[in-house]
Amino acid sequence: MTRIRLEGVTKTYGNVIAVNNITLDIEKGELFTFLGPSGCGKTTTLRIIAGFEIPDSGKLYFDDEDVTFLKPYKRNTAMVFQNYALWPHMTVYENVAYGLKIRKKQLGLTDEDIKKKVLEALELVKLSGLEDRYPLQLSGGQQQRVALARALVVKPRVLLLDEPLSNLDAKLRVEMREEIKKIQKKLGITTIYVTHDQLEALSISDRIGIMNKGSLVQVGTPQELYFKP
Ligand code: ADP
Ligand code: ADP
Repeated sequence: MTRIRLEGVTKTYGNVIAVNNITLDIEKGELFTFLGPSGCGKTTTLRIIAGFEIPDSGKLYFDDEDVTFLKPYKRNTAMVFQNYALWPHMTVYENVAYGLKIRKKQLGLTDEDIKKKVLEALELVKLSGLEDRYPLQLSGGQQQRVALARALVVKPRVLLLDEPLSNLDAKLRVEMREEIKKIQKKLGITTIYVTHDQLEALSISDRIGIMNKGSLVQVGTPQELYFKP
């Protein structure tokens, strides 16, 4: 479990201040959501935490380690995208195994180890038995589960979810967010969630950070932010 700290993090593109001086602590095992309208800086913040963007100023810490300039692959974060980004020519099994296979030597894994981990991850997201299907032979919800299994199979320190449910219909969205919350709590993995959907944020988060025009304008539990007497 990893604690995350952003300290005065700022990122600009030309004259657009995408992220404006954000300071925030995210606790170990917490599910923290960045909530706000399109263009407010949620994805950029997530990409800074993943290491795909380097802030212009400010610092980022995982526990007590300064990771501001650490390469993405050394941070051990895993990201799930809105469009799943699965390989269409690979089966479910191959999609989930891919990240382990390319690091097989580095992690000292045998094919048997990989198989065990992949089957475990697929069981966690309730996809056992669908190993040999291709992504296009699955429903949207099942594809999202594959993406989740692929992220979790590497046992990341931090799980990053960027609008993961936006492409699902309303009923499936409710089902999947309950599922994500359950898995997240079971694994105790520090998770950052990005959405523009207030109800989704309220139902899934331990705490919510509301963003507006690059700034973090309010932080609190759903209770504190929305149900004050
Ligand atoms: P959100 O995820 O909340 O929709 P983003 O973080 O994607 O917001 O974008 C925040 C602002 O930064 C927007 O004005 C967006 O157009 C701009 N922006 C994001 N990434 C880039 C980029 N690579 N180049 C230029 N502008 C960008
Ligand atoms: P999402 O829909 O997942 O929020 P975006 O459309 O915000 O994704 O961004 C997709 C990619 O394009 C990201 O790499 C982001 O940094 C980049 N991007 C976003 N806005 C701009 C922009 N105005 N100019 C250039 N690149 C951008």
